[in-house]
Amino acid sequence: MTLTAFRAEILTVPTDPAQSPDAIQHYPDGLLVVEDGVVIALGHYADLAPRYPDLAPEILPGLLVPGFIDTHIHYPQTERIAAHGEQLLQWLETHIFPAEAAFADRAHADTIAAFFLDELLRNGTTSALVFATVHEASVDALFEAALNRNMRIISGKVLMDLGPPTLRDTPETAREQTEALITRWQGRGRLGYAVTPRFALTSSDAQLAIAGDLVAAHPDVLMHTHMAENPGECAAVLGRFPDARHYIDAYDRFGLVGPRSLFAHCIHMDDGAMGRMGQAGAAISFCPTSNLFLGSGLFDLAHADRFGVKVGMGSDVGAGTSFSLLSTQGEAYKVCQMRGAVLDPFRALYLATAGGARALGLSDRIGGLQVGQEADFILLDAACTPLLARRTAGASLADRLFALQILGDDRAVAQTYIAGQLAHTR
Ligand SMILES: [Zn+2]
Repeated sequence: MTLTAFRAEILTVPTDPAQSPDAIQHYPDGLLVVEDGVVIALGHYADLAPRYPDLAPEILPGLLVPGFIDTHIHYPQTERIAAHGEQLLQWLETHIFPAEAAFADRAHADTIAAFFLDELLRNGTTSALVFATVHEASVDALFEAALNRNMRIISGKVLMDLGPPTLRDTPETAREQTEALITRWQGRGRLGYAVTPRFALTSSDAQLAIAGDLVAAHPDVLMHTHMAENPGECAAVLGRFPDARHYIDAYDRFGLVGPRSLFAHCIHMDDGAMGRMGQAGAAISFCPTSNLFLGSGLFDLAHADRFGVKVGMGSDVGAGTSFSLLSTQGEAYKVCQMRGAVLDPFRALYLATAGGARALGLSDRIGGLQVGQEADFILLDAACTPLLARRTAGASLADRLFALQILGDDRAVAQTYIAGQLAHTR
């Protein structure tokens, strides 16, 4: 048994502040006590310290918050971030598919996986739901690197038998390779598996049916894909499935819409589609920097809220323009403004932490630094640039948090801890 403790200003939002005003837990002089990587106490230092008289807590200067949870990101696209000039379908053809083809080489996959996970840590992201490529070994590379770092990472081989010739699998190899990867990795360390059809257009009906079978056969795995990102994509889906009322029907008929399903984007939704999401208990990854970069559209958070749909934040790198979920929260605020809504800074933090955990079905494990949860946390420095220091001097907690979301990025992440262990220092 190893007991460690951290004394800092601590902020966590373990439940949705839009539902319960007392969701915000703030300890100006707080204490976090960790045993074997798990939180055993969180509260005011003055209240808790007498219970642990032999502990000498490490004093951390800054604002301690739960580690960020990125609910949608593509590790093989790391090197193609900031690729100019296209919308979704052309961008995939021109920039992304050639980059993903390189992951047939395991050594290349190992190199990018290591860089990618270190970049997550530099940005304060401690967990993520990650697209690999169609290559089985691309998943092995990521999981091996994540296991070495003890990170809670969920990923899966991409299913795309209608993809470009260089990146095509078949329904049968999709099934065999997915089964093999689940056997090899599901539940090992802190890893989890997601059955990952790229999107409706890149899989045949036979492959989508196999994806549904795999999700049904493995009650611990997630289903991860894209939906309703771009108007041209939506039109093409309805062209392929002429009897579908909405894009979501194309997934629903194969058993892919359920409580373990996470769909990135969901921008072009009507009441029927959003209602089905809420009824099914499915989750959305809100990816504002990607949606703005590709000109895909403006996600309507209030619409998702009206139907009780679970929402987490996603960077969606390489269409997303930053690994930082601070920057992503700032862009989410702007997208909500364009939709005529105001995103509260505490709710933005919730979406990037406990909300993401809920979207991934991991509320019992991560996201809130509650007793019994794993101690993944970061230390934010609101004085990391001259401008932020000036803007936040003497500011209230809400004001500091909002300034960090609008002006902050990896520079504001002083330290990242994984299961109570220091994993990154700026
Ligand atoms: Zn994506």
